[in-house]
Amino acid sequence: MGRALDTTDIKALLYRNYEHPRWNEVATRCLTCANCTLVCPTCFCATVEDTTDLTGDHAERWRSWDSCFGLDHSYIHGGNVRTSPSARYRQWLTHKLATWIDQFGTSGCVGCGRCITWCPVGIDLTEEVGAIRAADASRSTPPEHEHGDA
Ligand code: SF4
Ligand code: SF4
Repeated sequence: MGRALDTTDIKALLYRNYEHPRWNEVATRCLTCANCTLVCPTCFCATVEDTTDLTGDHAERWRSWDSCFGLDHSYIHGGNVRTSPSARYRQWLTHKLATWIDQFGTSGCVGCGRCITWCPVGIDLTEEVGAIRAADASRSTPPEHEHGDA
């Protein structure tokens, strides 16, 4: 892993760039294949499946690994919350590098580079954050509403 990621103020950077055009740009390449989440050592999201036999005597509940890149992962009674690839890529990257800090007090990325190695289209999170940071830094005075916490 020879790349570097500037993590300076990264949580605020990503939070104030929810609407950055780069999310749509990366989504034109992202296949939502979930490889990056499957190889990431910190990804832990799961789903729950229930099974019953025809007699009704036996039921099982299984927890299995799931990925935020899957459409069904954000299904909440009646619809999916994150229907577009850009929304799902943004969810993944923002969770790794920003909301993880709110949850656990540390980054969700250990810098192993596996997600880059195994991405079939060569998407590189260091490049994506760098592009967002470069555009963010080039702004003169961001509008006040873009400084929200969530
Ligand atoms: S570089 Fe970070 S996000 Fe990518 S697989 Fe490693 S820990 Fe996960
Ligand atoms: S491995 Fe690459 S193409 Fe597959 S979901 Fe992750 S970023 Fe998208």
